[in-house]
Amino acid sequence: MSTNRTAAMTDVLHREPVTVNLPDPKISVFFGSNVFSDAEMRNHLSEEAYNSVRNSIEHGQKIDRKIADQVAASMKAWAMGKGATHYTHWFQPLTGATAEKHDSFFTAVATAVGVETFSGSALVQQEPDASSFPSGGIRSTFEARGYTAWDPTSPAFIMETGSGKTLCIPTIFVSYTGEALDYKAPLLKSLNLLQDAAVPVCQYFDKNVTKVNATLGWEQEYFLVDEALFLSRPDLSICGRTLVGHYPAKGQQLEDHYFGTIPERIFNFMVDFETESHKLGIPLRTRHNEVAPGQYECAPLFEEASIAVDHNLLLMDVMEKVARRHKLRVLFHEKPFAGVNGSGKHNNWSMGTDTGKNLLSPGKTPRTNLQFLTFFINTIKAVHDYADLLRVSIAAAGNDHRLGANEAPPAIISAFIGSALREVLNEIENRVNEDNFDETDKTDLRLDIHNKIPDLLLDNTDRNRTSPFAFTGNKFEFRAVGSSANCSKAMTTLNTIVATQLLAFRTEVDALIKGGENKDSAILKVLRRYITESKHILFEGDNYSEEWAKEATEKRGLSNVKTTPEAIEFYGTEKAKKVFVSNHILSERELHARQEIEFEEYAKKIQIEARIYGELVYNYVLPAAISYQNELLDNILKLKAVGLKEDHYKEQLDLAQTITLHINHLRSSLERMVEERKRANRIDHAREKAYAYCNEVKPLFDTIREHADMLERYMPDATWPLPKYRELLFVK
Ligand code: ADP
Ligand code: MG
Repeated sequence: MSTNRTAAMTDVLHREPVTVNLPDPKISVFFGSNVFSDAEMRNHLSEEAYNSVRNSIEHGQKIDRKIADQVAASMKAWAMGKGATHYTHWFQPLTGATAEKHDSFFTAVATAVGVETFSGSALVQQEPDASSFPSGGIRSTFEARGYTAWDPTSPAFIMETGSGKTLCIPTIFVSYTGEALDYKAPLLKSLNLLQDAAVPVCQYFDKNVTKVNATLGWEQEYFLVDEALFLSRPDLSICGRTLVGHYPAKGQQLEDHYFGTIPERIFNFMVDFETESHKLGIPLRTRHNEVAPGQYECAPLFEEASIAVDHNLLLMDVMEKVARRHKLRVLFHEKPFAGVNGSGKHNNWSMGTDTGKNLLSPGKTPRTNLQFLTFFINTIKAVHDYADLLRVSIAAAGNDHRLGANEAPPAIISAFIGSALREVLNEIENRVNEDNFDETDKTDLRLDIHNKIPDLLLDNTDRNRTSPFAFTGNKFEFRAVGSSANCSKAMTTLNTIVATQLLAFRTEVDALIKGGENKDSAILKVLRRYITESKHILFEGDNYSEEWAKEATEKRGLSNVKTTPEAIEFYGTEKAKKVFVSNHILSERELHARQEIEFEEYAKKIQIEARIYGELVYNYVLPAAISYQNELLDNILKLKAVGLKEDHYKEQLDLAQTITLHINHLRSSLERMVEERKRANRIDHAREKAYAYCNEVKPLFDTIREHADMLERYMPDATWPLPKYRELLFVK
């Protein structure tokens, strides 16, 4: 075995599970202990300051400078009491990761004397160097600077890293001209829009509703590999996925991994990161093995969407840090291993009112059922009308491997609602007739609906795992989101399209009411039309099948956009402008900037993979293959030298030929790819460059991989230089 791989395997085989000391057997004792929560604020702030912060959280009111100073002083006292020495503005730049720049509380005031300070202005605003974050051209043409601004809707927290503790203040990140340079600002705007659009619709049914929040419960899938094996593979350590590698004899065919027992070493890692997450107030609840070997999942209780987004990003960060303590590396890439399931991040989404009602939960009375149907059908209509925008919200180089790969939802956006609700919709469509519908009739449709819906909640069998957007009893589950994604992107779009739809709905219903129609029948009539207009987005069958791809595109006119660059085009459509710009979620410039950034990011990702292919082939696979080729040729020459006939070394010759063929093809396909890469690199324009990488460079990856994988198959295990799939996936 090659020395790197041997050394790594030796390390792995000697690993001991790392024990974890729980702060307390009861999670409730330490849950949220590192969060400057509402309760902590109440404890630490004056009544005036507390009320001002609450007003800002609930009504978006500005916090004045004097109050900000008070809040900063209290936050500092709280954080220092817990051992924090530094603070940072914590934000979500368009790189997809989170960013932080730490400053010490400590300030030297005179020679050898210092104090710890943290002022209101340091809390409210900071200026990280915006030039090192993507801006899609916003920066260069206008102001070079950007600033982060405190987002009081998300609580400050203390991040513990090694022996250091840092107070983190969630912020938005904007340019000096006011354009968003992050994912958080548009998310918050979309949440406000949804609230403004949904509240008046709720009031058709319940005058007490004054607030509506989008709720999000994500499910995070990930792979774990041993650190030593991870580090001896440049593809894994640089790209987060294997670029070559051979599917093992035992993969997931036996389907014995899902929900199987969790090995001790992995289990300890889970306990450890869950504990850290609980201290940060992340309500993690479930953990289990996923379908693929080496793959796992965790999920929290759902929360308000913006908090849930922050918590998901924090969790990913915590998991990466904690994994190292256990000599493990966590892979959030959507497709780390060929031939093995990839990872997603299901986004369970709904809307909740301040009266405690889940708007996507079927009710117990005709009244609440009509409310449920209103939000349910409007969501379907939004998905139907703006499917392309949902598609671009999940587009990324990594997710291209998943969507449509017969293991994850396809690139075709459709919605699954189950047969019972489908029947309810059919009935509305058939019975709510423009002319003779009598909503006061006792055999009225609403009573039927009322009798039918409750069964649904009990019947969980009607599930479709292949749908990208599935109704699961009391929420929609957007399954096509990639495991490494910032949920903000998908959630901003979903909130915005549903809000846009609800605004249109209200206008239509109000117009009918004004024309003398009774409210309920006005609502039902508009809903009926929506059902007719959007039903071809509903699909109950197997989304993985080829028939569906054919039917969707040929009969139903749905799009099947398979690559990220094509999906990114949707940012430039009139629909995108109508939805994002006219609702003030993104300005036209911001929309354009996002398109540029995503084209650039796509090209960069593929470019890096292309370079790592060069390293893998020239530094690892080719040298090993040539050694083996030599060994075979030596053997043949020796057999010949002792006077044996060709019959006796025919097999060696044949093997040498096979090895030689793959060596030659491997190198020539790599060189062809390098030529294409050079051509792509000469293109300045972000869009064209992305297409060149997608259509000219990337397809050659498959050819390179095919030959490298054939060499892995034919070469002696002892001389193969890279940790193999069976080691990466099965050795715990
Ligand atoms: P499943 O059978 O899909 O596992 P669960 O009820 O366990 O169903 O929920 C799965 C996920 O859905 C969890 O992460 C949970 O937090 C989330 N979820 C449940 N209700 C809601 C809701 N009203 N809004 C958003 N997410 C929700
Ligand atoms: Mg799920």
